[in-house]
Amino acid sequence: MLAADWRPQPFWWEDAPPEPADADLPARTDVAVIGGGYCGLMAALALAQNGIQALVLDAEDPGAGAATRNHGHVGGIGKLPANLERRVGAERAAIIKDDAVRAWNYLRDLIRDEGLDVDYVQRGRFLGAHSRAAYDALVRQAEDQRRSLRMTIHAVPREEQRREIGSDFYFGGTVTEEAGALHPAKLHREIRRLAERAGALIRGKARVMTITRIPGGYRLGTARGVVDADQVVVATNGYTGALTPDIRRRLVPVSAYMMATEEMPPDLAAACMPTNRTGGDTKRAIYAYRLSPDGRRIIFAGRAKWHAADDRLAAPILHAHLCRVWPELREIRVSHSWKGQIAFTFDHLPHMGSQDGLHFVAGCNSSGVVRMSYLGRQIGLKIAGRQDRPCGFEDLKFPTLPTYRGTPWFLPIVGRYYNLRDQLDRTLSGRWG
Ligand SMILES: Cc1cc2nc3c(=O)[nH]c(=O)nc-3n(C[C@H](O)[C@H](O)[C@H](O)COP(=O)(O)OP(=O)(O)OC[C@H]3O[C@@H](n4cnc5c(N)ncnc54)[C@H](O)[C@@H]3O)c2cc1C
Repeated sequence: MLAADWRPQPFWWEDAPPEPADADLPARTDVAVIGGGYCGLMAALALAQNGIQALVLDAEDPGAGAATRNHGHVGGIGKLPANLERRVGAERAAIIKDDAVRAWNYLRDLIRDEGLDVDYVQRGRFLGAHSRAAYDALVRQAEDQRRSLRMTIHAVPREEQRREIGSDFYFGGTVTEEAGALHPAKLHREIRRLAERAGALIRGKARVMTITRIPGGYRLGTARGVVDADQVVVATNGYTGALTPDIRRRLVPVSAYMMATEEMPPDLAAACMPTNRTGGDTKRAIYAYRLSPDGRRIIFAGRAKWHAADDRLAAPILHAHLCRVWPELREIRVSHSWKGQIAFTFDHLPHMGSQDGLHFVAGCNSSGVVRMSYLGRQIGLKIAGRQDRPCGFEDLKFPTLPTYRGTPWFLPIVGRYYNLRDQLDRTLSGRWG
C-alpha cells in the first residue's frame, strides 16, 4: 500500500520545505521569540512592524513543527466549548467570539492584501456526522454558529450527502461556506518572508535550553550560544518541553497523523470529493480530508495511534481509515505519511498570558492556522502596546491536573474509550464500521 517513492515527510515539503536560517545569533534583542511556527513568526512580524527588534529562535529549521505539517484547513478560530458563557462569563465569551471573527478576517485580508502565494481557496467545509444523534447535534450547533459567529452554515441531510462527498459513511452533515483551504508550508514561508522584510531576525537550529532572569530582562542559553533579551515570548505549542515546565503541565501534546495518496485520475478524486470542499467529521477520533491544491490527491488525517508511532507503521492504519470512507480507494497507494504535534488544553481553549516580561501563547487544540497566527499577532501587539482591546484568550485561568507534569500517560486509555464510543454511536445508528 506504500507507493514505491513513499516518503516519511509532509507532502507539503515537496513545494515548500522548511528553509534553514543559519546566520549568527546577535548578542541581544528587544524581544526573543521561542518557536518559529505561525505564532512565533506572527508575533515577530507585529513587533518588527512597530519598531521593536524581534529575534525568533527555533530548535529546528523554522517551520519544521506543526506549521508545515498541518492540513491547511482554514476554519476560523476553531471549535469553542458549548458552555463557553458559563465558563468565562457572558462578557468574555462575547469578546472571544468577536476574536473568532476578527482572526478569520485578519488572515484572509493578509493573504489578499499582501498577495501571499499560499494556494488559498474558499470553497467551504463539509462536516460529516458519524451517527444520527451527531447529525441532530450538528444541526443545533449550526443554528448557534449562524447567530453568534455570523457564519453561513446549512444542513445536508443524508439523502443529499452524495452531492458533497462520494461516500455513505456519514449520516448527513453541515456545510460552512466561509471555510477555506491553503498550502500550510507556503503560508509559513510567506509569513517568514513578511517578518524578515519587516526587520525581524529568524534563526534555526537554536534550541533554547535555559531562560535565566538577569537585570532588565532574560538570558537565553541556546544550542548556538547566549542571547540577552528585554522580553521573551514562548510560542512552542505542541513542542513545548522541559524549558517551560509551568506551561508544559497545562498542555496535553498529541501526535496527529496524516497521509497523502499518490496521484489519482482526476475523475476519481472528484468523485470522492465532488465539491472540493475541506472535510471533517464529528467522531471523537476524527477524520479530516481535502484534495491537494492540484486536485490529484486526497490528503487525509486520522488517529493512527494514541502514542507516538513510526510513520511507516502509521501509514497502513491511515490507509485503512481512508478506505472506510472511500472503499474504492483500496488500490490507491500512500505517497507520503507524517505526523506533527498538537497541544490540547484541559479547558479546550487556547491561552495567552504575560508576567514580568515573559509572555506565552499555547494550546491550539488542533486548530491553529488562523488561531495561532492571530494569537501570535496579538501577543506582539500587546508587547508593543498596540492592541485596541485585550484579546479574549488573555489571562484566563489556565487549568491543569494536580499531579500532571506534561506526559499524557492517559492518552491510550482515553483513545480506547473514544474509539469505543465512536463505534457504539454508529452501532446505535444501525451501522457498523
Ligand atoms: C497533522 C496536523 C494537522 C493539522 N491540521 C490543521 C488544520 O487543518 N487547520 C488548522 O487550523 N490547524 C491544524 N493543525 C494545527 C496547527 O498546525 C497548529 O495549531 C499550528 O501550526 C501551531 O502553530 P505554532 O506556531 O503555535 O506551533 P508550531 O508550528 O508547532 O511551532 C512550534 C515551534 O517551536 C519550536 N520549539 C519547541 N521547543 C523549542 C525550544 N526549546 N527552543 C526553540 N524552539 C522550540 C519547534 O521546533 C516548532 O517549530 C494541525 C496540526 C497537525 C500536527
